[in-house]
Amino acid sequence: MSSIVAIVGRPNVGKSTFFNRLIQRREAIVDSVSGVTRDRHYGKTDWNGRNFSVIDTGGYVLGSDDVFEAEIDKQVELAIGEADAIIFMVDVETGVTAMDEDVAQLLRKVNKPVFLAVNKVDNSKRLENAVEFYSLGLGEYFPIASTSGSGTGELLDALVEALPEDTYQEEAELPRFAVVGRPNAGKSSFINALIGEDRYIVTDVAGTTRDAIDTRYNRFGFEFNLVDTAGIRKKSKVKEDLEFYSVMRSVRAIEHCDVCLVVMDATRGFDGQVQNIFWLAQRNRKGIVLLVNKWDLLEKETNTMKEYEANIRREMEPFTDVPIVFMSVLTKQRIFKAIETAVEVYNNRSKKIKTSELNEEMLPLIEAYPPPAYKGKYVKIKFCMQLPTPQPQFAFFCNLPQYVKDPYKRFIENKLREKFDFSGVPVSVYFRKK
Ligand code: GDP
Ligand code: GDP
Repeated sequence: MSSIVAIVGRPNVGKSTFFNRLIQRREAIVDSVSGVTRDRHYGKTDWNGRNFSVIDTGGYVLGSDDVFEAEIDKQVELAIGEADAIIFMVDVETGVTAMDEDVAQLLRKVNKPVFLAVNKVDNSKRLENAVEFYSLGLGEYFPIASTSGSGTGELLDALVEALPEDTYQEEAELPRFAVVGRPNAGKSSFINALIGEDRYIVTDVAGTTRDAIDTRYNRFGFEFNLVDTAGIRKKSKVKEDLEFYSVMRSVRAIEHCDVCLVVMDATRGFDGQVQNIFWLAQRNRKGIVLLVNKWDLLEKETNTMKEYEANIRREMEPFTDVPIVFMSVLTKQRIFKAIETAVEVYNNRSKKIKTSELNEEMLPLIEAYPPPAYKGKYVKIKFCMQLPTPQPQFAFFCNLPQYVKDPYKRFIENKLREKFDFSGVPVSVYFRKK
């Protein structure tokens, strides 16, 4: 389970620059959650061998100073609620502002590691100027320059040192299912229907969400933990914020689960926000079941379901091997089918194929359809194995791995899916030198 780090601070202090520097170090997993006034970014990175997620809580905001103020409060509240550590970024060029002081005041009360990053320290004059940020009462600060990267190493060293230990042991625990989706899709109704009563209570105290999000489920021979995103409702006036919070909850729940039950409203379709959540789950290599809820509300003809499904699968490309369950929480149609399917996906994800069996199935196929020659050279695949990772990853050993291109990797992935059933599970295929 990887930790979450939030970057907060006034607009223009350099948060996005810093974020991009962090994320570019690795294959970027960036999701922009576009709001009316800003973009927010979420990505994964690592430092000194520790993996963590980063949320850049906001770019620029249009509007007057009090809009800024309200915005910053929300950023900080979000960071306090969701993150394991907070980077508070300020700008040496402008010096300490009233808004910095407000944020500092909120952060001084927080029971989480807070790192004060004084950005745009491009030269020694500015290094001297940075001293004034002691006045924020947050102690030691880190002088950095996000554009050049100077000082960021020291900041990251201290940051990862302060992150909680990775405690997630995937095998020892019960399966973890996250019920995710946009507000009003029917997540709470679904969970209540499963549990059979309204004992679904989650406290709404900032900072306690991590402990509160699990509900144990044990009925009809199934036992698992439900990782919640539904029960917690922010008291927000603005629709956009509600959506944003729901995305943030999803991010957290997705990171902590084995299988995501993505709930969508059939009357709204597989729209942008559902897709965001779907791809987040896919990029985090989690199992996925898509639940098309409120199926009772649609006028149906003979081919309605088939056509509906075909449209969704087109949007899912290239990851189309995902179970889709049409359900209605209201009429209780197929809600247990949803759980059964999630259990199947969980089993697919934890499946381990014996090396002998894998080679027996795959090598003849590869022989019949070898990778195309590249620059006159032939790739010879000699051997393959599943890696001992929590989710399915396969290594194919060959003489010239650099010549194996994406279409062939997809061919191999599809064959693995045909032979062994990885429905709902992202599968990684690597070619390595032997
Ligand atoms: P955000 O609104 O906090 O996300 O800020 P941005 O990352 O968009 O940066 C605002 C401006 O500050 C941009 O013009 C950046 O190029 C500039 N900037 C960011 N980091 C540095 C830095 O280390 N030194 C200097 N001189 N400018 C920087
Ligand atoms: P959440 O925000 O995702 O937790 O959504 P809720 O569970 O609060 O449901 C939002 C609304 O949709 C409520 O008014 C539910 O009664 C309604 N709803 C949930 N599932 C169904 C369904 O299968 N059919 C219909 N017609 N309404 C549903």
